[in-house]
Amino acid sequence: MSISKQTIRDVNLKDKRVVMRVDFNVPMNEGIVQDDTRIKAALPTIQYILEQNVKYLILISHLGNPEKEIKDAKEKAISKGLEFNEQKYLESKYMLKPVADYLSQLLRKNVLFAAHALGEETKTTINNLKTGEILMLENIRFCKEETAKDAAVREKLAKELASYGDIYVNDAFGTAHRAHASTETIAHFLPAVAGFLMEKELEYLEEKVIKNPKRPFVAIIGGAKVSSKIDVLERLLTKVDRLIIGGGMAYTFLKAKGLSIGDSLIETDMINIARKILQRAYETEIYIYLPIDHIVTRSFASDAEYKHVARGNIDDGWMGMDIGPLTIEKYHGTIKSAHTIFWNGPLGVFEFPAFAKGTIAIAEILSQLPDALTVIGGGDTVSAINKANVADKMSHISTGGGASLELIEGKTLPGVAALMNKELGGKSPLIKEVLSCIS
Ligand code: AMP
Repeated sequence: MSISKQTIRDVNLKDKRVVMRVDFNVPMNEGIVQDDTRIKAALPTIQYILEQNVKYLILISHLGNPEKEIKDAKEKAISKGLEFNEQKYLESKYMLKPVADYLSQLLRKNVLFAAHALGEETKTTINNLKTGEILMLENIRFCKEETAKDAAVREKLAKELASYGDIYVNDAFGTAHRAHASTETIAHFLPAVAGFLMEKELEYLEEKVIKNPKRPFVAIIGGAKVSSKIDVLERLLTKVDRLIIGGGMAYTFLKAKGLSIGDSLIETDMINIARKILQRAYETEIYIYLPIDHIVTRSFASDAEYKHVARGNIDDGWMGMDIGPLTIEKYHGTIKSAHTIFWNGPLGVFEFPAFAKGTIAIAEILSQLPDALTVIGGGDTVSAINKANVADKMSHISTGGGASLELIEGKTLPGVAALMNKELGGKSPLIKEVLSCIS
């Protein structure tokens, strides 16, 4: 099974100046990388590129959403009467130099760093790069043009970045659902191909899960709200054989069935939509599994007292925090017969150990399936898989929460769409046009 886009395997990289977008948007604290999953995930592409005897490799990434997050943190500190040191906060969380150093250690090779993505100094550094060297640019979101709504503004930055290279590689799956200057616009100015991580994500999520799942195909969707996953639920209903729903969103569905849910999380404006989804599933004979028992508590706290109740027995003042043991058993029954499983969203408030049992149990059940393809759709579910210590037992763990959901929803990811198609066997018409202008 292969993806429809060209990859680094399809182009000759020898002596080329390669510009690569990676997603090194990793959690940082005090300038220390807290989770290196995304850095490690890009290593196969980086190593392959270096082995092709390229002229040099330039890495571009974003880290957080500095402008908005710093503003929010500042306002929060001020509202509490606390001092806020903007520069210190910026250095602690948003500067990529520590990531470049971390990558150096992983590669056992010096990774040079440019303190500004743009400017004369950076251009000189790039011009002086020696054969086979790597340079990482500072957080691209420090350039306002990166996320600008106006395409012409993004184009200005994209052209600058494109001028650093002969070929563009996109391995930033986690950001592929954003049409930003370094993820999408740049691909219109250079021959653009996918890296191995991008290829793997598309192969699993698009080809093996959505287009050609081995049946039975079961999806497990949890998390807090129906509203944030409505498109995913609707698309999955047309693809799966069975759908398992858990987490906070399950209570809106239970309410739609007329069951009492006490003070559990509810989206009243979603009850009708939940009812329609249940109706459609009934008409198309897709079985939707909802919790049949619950772990409930009176306060949303890690040390809150809790008890076990059957479906329909959640009294006022109590809220469902996790699926109960009977639900786990029931879900187990349907999961073990599946050949393809896609999972997004925890089945309870897994951040509190007392309410993580359902989510951990499902992770363990998935890890014990000998023949099934198990695909984890990023975000919180990945933390749950790591908590359960079963990451190495999954077929694929996506590095992009938002991007993987958009793919499952059937949306086109701008960062993917802009890459060269395989069947064209060469440059996209737009690139041909651009190249003819500059040659
Ligand atoms: P999402 O980002 O939509 O996947 O939601 C993840 C969040 O859903 C996690 O922070 C969980 O704590 C939360 N969650 C899961 N189950 C429940 C529940 N029963 N009540 C409230 N929040 C929940």
